[in-house]
Amino acid sequence: MFISEIFYSIQGEGELTGTPSVFIRTSGCNLRCNWCDTPYASWRPEGAEKSLGEIMGEVEKFPARHVVLTGGEPMAAKGIRELAAALRERGKHITIETAATIAPGGIACDLASLSPKLRNSAPDAELFGAWRERHEKLRRQPEVVREWIENYPFQLKFVVAGAGDIKEIQLLLREWGGKIPPEKVLLMPEGTTIEALRAREPALVELCRRHGYRYCHRLQIELFGNTRGT
Ligand code: SF4
Repeated sequence: MFISEIFYSIQGEGELTGTPSVFIRTSGCNLRCNWCDTPYASWRPEGAEKSLGEIMGEVEKFPARHVVLTGGEPMAAKGIRELAAALRERGKHITIETAATIAPGGIACDLASLSPKLRNSAPDAELFGAWRERHEKLRRQPEVVREWIENYPFQLKFVVAGAGDIKEIQLLLREWGGKIPPEKVLLMPEGTTIEALRAREPALVELCRRHGYRYCHRLQIELFGNTRGT
């Protein structure tokens, strides 16, 4: 598998915030979000080929039960199902962080951390016309989202740029069946600096108060800044 990095840190986002976890970041992504915070695993994928045995050997060096498969887009990584099965066999708790454009197809997973992308993610039309078209065609996959939420414990984590995104979120929730409990919907501010997060917090907190959604912080930015291996 093409792996960008494997590291031991604290989960910074979502229901398991604060949980010590091993992160396996696959390299490569089928989308090109304009604000992507891991361009080294999407826009310019870097990394090294590692065998399943090598990856498991690195995971076992750390004293964590929780493992996070992230990216890039981990579901696009060749061998991801075999890796998840091996982690399950070792008794690991598996979170998969995915944009939910690729169906799970029975993959071993204890928490599907789904982050379907909104319009605010589209790459610039002038600079990246072809990628923008592909991105816009791919990012919305209602059947795939339904397969995830009907078969796995899940959270829906939206990267929100401003209050104007709420209409699109509600449209998507209706498209996916409309029975999603509000506490499963997490609103996370877009931004990779503390200042950018702070600037968006008040609008998101107000949206959570009004609709019953959960505010999702990015603890890793607070603790470590936007750095690799965290
Ligand atoms: S889906 Fe995730 S990894 Fe891929 S471009 Fe968007 S933010 Fe980056």
